[in-house]
Amino acid sequence: MSNWQELEHKYFMHTFDRVPVTLVRGEGARVWNEDGREYLDFVAGWAVNSLGHCHPVVAEAVAEQAHTLIQTSNQFYTIPQLRLAELLVQNSCLDKVFLCNSGAEANEGAVKLARRYGKLNLNGAYEVITAMNSFHGRTLAMTAATGQPKFQQPYLPLPLGFINVEYNNIAAIKSATTNQTCAVMLEPVEAEGGVNIPDDKYLAAVRGWCDQKGILLILDEIQTGIGRMGTLFAYEQYGIEPDIMTLAKGLGSGVPIGAIMAKDRASVFVPGDHGSTFGGNVLACAASYAAVKFITDSDIAGNAKRVGSYFITGLEGLKHKFDFITDVRGRGLLIAMEFSSDIAQSVLMACLDGGLLVNRLKPNALRFMPPLIIGNEEVDEALGILDRALSSIVS
Ligand SMILES: *Cc1c(COP(=O)(O)O)cnc(C)c1O
Repeated sequence: MSNWQELEHKYFMHTFDRVPVTLVRGEGARVWNEDGREYLDFVAGWAVNSLGHCHPVVAEAVAEQAHTLIQTSNQFYTIPQLRLAELLVQNSCLDKVFLCNSGAEANEGAVKLARRYGKLNLNGAYEVITAMNSFHGRTLAMTAATGQPKFQQPYLPLPLGFINVEYNNIAAIKSATTNQTCAVMLEPVEAEGGVNIPDDKYLAAVRGWCDQKGILLILDEIQTGIGRMGTLFAYEQYGIEPDIMTLAKGLGSGVPIGAIMAKDRASVFVPGDHGSTFGGNVLACAASYAAVKFITDSDIAGNAKRVGSYFITGLEGLKHKFDFITDVRGRGLLIAMEFSSDIAQSVLMACLDGGLLVNRLKPNALRFMPPLIIGNEEVDEALGILDRALSSIVS
């Protein structure tokens, strides 16, 4: 164990099951450890580094802003915040933006917004229907929203007002809807929960139900948004529009930032209803503006779509070769590979030996979420390392 890893054990709360690598530098899809060993990074800060590590447009925006103005509070107008808000609205179906610092915080705000809407328009309805195997963040309320007992059990009792129902099952949403329901909150694809892709018609059916009942549809696009699934936002692939959408992860290409977006009709906050000290701070906004501008101008989502399907084809090839691979699934550059037994950690460690960083999604599944700027060459390299890693598991 390196010195740094010993320090972690000594000083850091033991909440993360870390891989034994200390990273000190990154560039594009590559990172280096303290000894100068290079890795191809298919974790990308947990689907965060959309433009890879230290992309020049992001690094320059941060450096320039850091020398100009870093934080002012929301008592004042600042320019990067408003440029970012305009860019997000111009590139989406939503009309208004609130900026915060993380995904969980964006979802908390979205639920507050939906409850506010319920107070104003639905006789005080406050319940939010969410899905089993979802992931909405780690705050107490988002733990209640996240339909995974392992995250909930240690923290009971949880805040009230969340109903977890089966994903990809419109009947389950219908039967959970009462006159206390103000919103349904879903991920377009359940990312942390298994890269679970719903039937093509599911989200349209949920949209139709919400319209019929006059309740709001909140899409958590924290992981799927900003190009990850091959379109700027995943909702575009389902032919629907949410009333509220949350973003974080890839939004700042590495810099912490989150956003709540809403249609005008759902944008019911008035001054004092919600707030944030750091939310929308100039530094994060300058970085995020530079990242999103580059992503939209250069069709990075299109690249994710092309390279993602090339990658999936390659992974399907490995599935034919190794019979213990039971499934390969994904859209764009959010991809999972599932095994017939709990070997994900061994495959992960073998990939690490080969110089490839991957994520363990479940004991029997890996997740690949590389930077969206990679090309087929990086995919070929990753497939080669993965092939050797899988071979070493069999023998
Ligand atoms: C990561 C994630 C979150 C939580 O984001 P944090 O920034 O870790 O709070 C919420 N929803 C989804 C879909 C996510 O992938």
